Amino acid sequence: MTNAVLDTAARGRTGKRYRLDKPELLAPAGNLEKLRIAVHYGADAVYIGGQKYGLRSNADNFSIDEMREGVEFAARYGAKVFVATNIYAHQEDLEGVADYLRQLESVGIAAIIAADPYIVETALREAPGLEVHLSTQQSTMNWQAVKFWKEEGLPRVVLARETSMEEIREIKKHVDIEIEAFIHGAMCSSVSGRCVLSNHFTDRDSNRGGCCQSCRWKYDLHEGGLAVANADEHQFTMGSKDLCMIRHIPDLIEAGVDSFKIEGRMKSIHYVASVVNAYRQAIDAYMADPESYALKQEWIDEIGKAANRPLNTGFFYSKPGAGEHIYEPEEKPAPYDFAAIVQEYDEASGIAVVQQRSPFKPGMEVEFIGPGGRAFTQRIDEMTDEEGNPLTVARHPMQRIRLRTDQPVRTWDLMRKRLL
Ligand code: SF4
Repeated sequence: MTNAVLDTAARGRTGKRYRLDKPELLAPAGNLEKLRIAVHYGADAVYIGGQKYGLRSNADNFSIDEMREGVEFAARYGAKVFVATNIYAHQEDLEGVADYLRQLESVGIAAIIAADPYIVETALREAPGLEVHLSTQQSTMNWQAVKFWKEEGLPRVVLARETSMEEIREIKKHVDIEIEAFIHGAMCSSVSGRCVLSNHFTDRDSNRGGCCQSCRWKYDLHEGGLAVANADEHQFTMGSKDLCMIRHIPDLIEAGVDSFKIEGRMKSIHYVASVVNAYRQAIDAYMADPESYALKQEWIDEIGKAANRPLNTGFFYSKPGAGEHIYEPEEKPAPYDFAAIVQEYDEASGIAVVQQRSPFKPGMEVEFIGPGGRAFTQRIDEMTDEEGNPLTVARHPMQRIRLRTDQPVRTWDLMRKRLL
């Protein structure tokens, strides 16, 4: 990707300036299957965690062999794989860092995302084939700090989620460097994860991958001996609404954001597919014709079909106030449930082989979704196991099931069922 800033943009028919280079869509991948789904639905790059030095100790982190497999799969789609190595390291964490980074380089990882200066410096020295991207954990929000990291040899800075749109414009005006910004997903109620709530409450270190999301627990609140809120009546949490910038794609592109980052290595396959699918279409639509770009309701609806907390625009346009806080701790129930994943499709017979992820049965209406907004409703007439035995219900997780579809489907397409 080039480091285009608005100076390299063209003028459209209205005289407005437009960037010419396409930003990267960067998706989370908590395991190999999520990596395949993210790439299938149009991510240009994915970020994963290895078994060391990452910030998601509860995700199914990748072994070196799985990373190699993920890199090979992504390469078939022209996509890249980045590895998060962004812990704040204590002395005991650092043993073996150089060997680990050389292993990442040897299996074709394109970049690491790092916060600790020793990990940054070791990667630059010991694994020159790896790009080093500065993690959001460094809380970078001004162009002078960005310039510092560029002079240290880093091609990209992941900004703090607390950076405003105006600050991004300012950074791109002063420094020719790739800027990555979170555009969708969970927000911390502290500065970009610099939080020790989890450490205090459960002895799990947020900054070494152990956050237990204590901010989202339900609390009784007392002030001066009086109960202000309790969990039975007025529930209180310290959680923030999630970030969603689907309505503001032109602003992000025109501000010069080079990489659009979706948060959520712990999120479901369905979530990754829906969110990547929506942003892919929006970015492509803008780049195809910025002059006549228009937000489509179907992109917003697609995001809403996977599990979601209430959404807002974070710090992009103003500092979050009381309205950006979550007072009702329950997430909105998702209107759809992920039912199966397509593994094979035979065009001649119109038969798909799907792998079960939640129960379904003949007579149900389901929806198949694929990249680019491809979607259709399907009534399941009959279905069989792989040996051809008729099934009255698909109740076994991971069972392979044969059923007919009215329209063609592709491997890695998802099948989901409506709940609400
Ligand atoms: S407890 Fe909440 S605010 Fe703190 S790091 Fe975890 S998710 Fe972020």
